[in-house]
Amino acid sequence: MTTVWREACRASTRAVVLSGSLLLPTVLGACSSPPMPEADLVVRGATVIDATGSPPRADTDVFVRDGRITAILPTGEAEPPADATIVDAAGAFVMPGLSDMHVHFSLGLPGPGPDDQTEQVLRRLLYYGVTSMLNLGATDGSTESIRDLWARMERGEVQGPTVYGTGGHLTLPGTHPVWTIFPPPRREAAQAIVDATPEDEPANLYPLGLGISLVRTAAAARRAVQERAAGGMHAIKITVETGPSEFGDDHPLMPVEMIQAIVDEAAAHDLRVFAHVSSPHELEAAMAGGVAGVVHAVSERPFPSTTVGADLADRDFHTVATLSLYDAFIRYVEDPSRLDDPFLRETVTDEEIEAFAQAGMLDAGAEADSLPFWRAETDAVMGEVADLHRLGVPIVLGTDVGNPMVFAGYSAHEELAHLVKGGLTPLEAIQAATINAARMVEDTEEFGTIEVGKRADLLILDADPLADIRNSRRIRSVIARGRLVDRAALMGN
Ligand SMILES: [Zn+2]
Repeated sequence: MTTVWREACRASTRAVVLSGSLLLPTVLGACSSPPMPEADLVVRGATVIDATGSPPRADTDVFVRDGRITAILPTGEAEPPADATIVDAAGAFVMPGLSDMHVHFSLGLPGPGPDDQTEQVLRRLLYYGVTSMLNLGATDGSTESIRDLWARMERGEVQGPTVYGTGGHLTLPGTHPVWTIFPPPRREAAQAIVDATPEDEPANLYPLGLGISLVRTAAAARRAVQERAAGGMHAIKITVETGPSEFGDDHPLMPVEMIQAIVDEAAAHDLRVFAHVSSPHELEAAMAGGVAGVVHAVSERPFPSTTVGADLADRDFHTVATLSLYDAFIRYVEDPSRLDDPFLRETVTDEEIEAFAQAGMLDAGAEADSLPFWRAETDAVMGEVADLHRLGVPIVLGTDVGNPMVFAGYSAHEELAHLVKGGLTPLEAIQAATINAARMVEDTEEFGTIEVGKRADLLILDADPLADIRNSRRIRSVIARGRLVDRAALMGN
């Protein structure tokens, strides 16, 4: 019998005696079976920010067993089982682990990178408290690659967040990203695959290590969706992009009929479709095709019109803004000292920074021409997020990891701060990173809040993120699927 329970028993016994009743034996009988939630891990004494929108709860214990939350109780109401791991969180703040819903392990562009790039991205995400992520294709992003990754994670060979996947993204030949950002030899290799593939089949770039399918007809697009559904993917990603403008704006736009066919086929398999867009006309095509959300904010102003915005809100249209992507194109070249941020350098090495410098990405002179463009784009996406948020459109945290200087895990904290700058309250920014992410992939039974039955993915902070969102960086510990993460072992790898 625990001290706390004894005290509770004494209190109730006293109440019975004072009332003159003779029910003492019954009361003592009740006292002999104290409530003991099942637990193999207990986070004790924290202020819990559960992300449902309820006020924070001080002095709270979170009980966890077999990777799931079993009870949330005022501290001391129940004692943990003797063999449970106790995580002392007195004075700390516990929120759900973060989600990054726009991740690529890399974009398949030439350049230096470790042999285990995918594993490194996963380790770093987890290190910084990202416990769920959505992969949107590109390197190691095919259905088969994602399934292989799940198997390796299941066997404990790879550590990382819970991985949600779309499989490869669907795009038209002649457009983004292959015909915009890829160098000619890769583009030629892709074209050779297209040439060797019947028109009504998706031309999968899997032999190039890329989760990208080039589709020329609605029939080919439907087949691609079927392959992803059969492989257990969680959503479908399409690329609806006539630019990006620095690569010319004359690339073909995915026809609305093809988008509709993809949405229709996906719905038959209970999957949602999310689109890469960057301009209003692409967003309008995606909306006309019936997609459930976009994975970039639109970087042209003025946008959205009130009508379009209201329509987006009515449709529960999820918008992953990727503000940190746009910001990354300017922030470090304008002020390279930001690369010295100790929180960043807990994982990112001198060699990596040097590689960006060698590639000319930190040379303000060389980048002078593109800086005004990216500054305008960043202002535009920031303004769009503010507008969409005002209109009630759900905003979801995503960073576009895989792009240069979008640092896995670290950028999720940058994105939180950008969202607050864009007009969300700290709680709303936290919800963008948690419950809104779970809603986006329709998995709210599993994650997104601190509630009984959910996956025990927890971020424990030394300071209150509701008082200042930058406190999300004050990480004391990370718990993923009910296990305390050994952050030191992940650091710098
Ligand atoms: Zn992306």
